[in-house]
Amino acid sequence: MRIVLLGPPGAGKGTQARRLAESTGMNHLSTGDMLRGEVASGTELGLLAKSYMDRGDLVPDSNIISMIQIHIGDPAGVLLDGFPRTVVQAEALDEALKQAGTPIDKVVHMSVDTDELIRRLSSRALCTDCQTPYNLESSPPAVPGKCDRCGGAVVVRDDDKPEAVSNRMNVYRQLTEPVLHYYRSRGDVVEIDAIGTPDEVFAKLSQSIGAGNSGRPSN
Ligand SMILES: [Zn+2]
Repeated sequence: MRIVLLGPPGAGKGTQARRLAESTGMNHLSTGDMLRGEVASGTELGLLAKSYMDRGDLVPDSNIISMIQIHIGDPAGVLLDGFPRTVVQAEALDEALKQAGTPIDKVVHMSVDTDELIRRLSSRALCTDCQTPYNLESSPPAVPGKCDRCGGAVVVRDDDKPEAVSNRMNVYRQLTEPVLHYYRSRGDVVEIDAIGTPDEVFAKLSQSIGAGNSGRPSN
């Protein structure tokens, strides 16, 4: 089974994908990890990718698709994370995978409500001195704004503040809606509500790909 996993920043997609890969034995193909791996092992593809990255350019789609093609035939199944991000990429990926006889079987979209995501992210805080994490709702410091451990300032990262989250979600929607629309027109998108505890989201995700509680992929 070959699955594309889509989800907004902050939905815990990377963590869930790793966990799903562990429980099902599927190969988690994160575009970022794959790129770093190819670069680190100095393969031809890696060197080519590095030449773009060193110039501050985006690695071309064709290069990323070549990397995906190396792993897409994994008999254990593949969980694609971080690609495609645009319709052009989705079409190019489809074309390449069709030719290789390894098409995408399913697209899982982890959707979250923006207000809920804002509430969740803006409750995450960190000590600026010792980096101890806090949750301002469930495990706040005893004295507001002050680290229990070292007395340092406990703050919400700028990235997690409501306006920043809201901006990120708008950018995400603009980029991803067309990709979702593209896959929906083929009828293979499963929506899961990614609000909930990590365990709850993981249960929904497993169910959506037919892995159930047995932790085995359905194919
Ligand atoms: Zn501290």
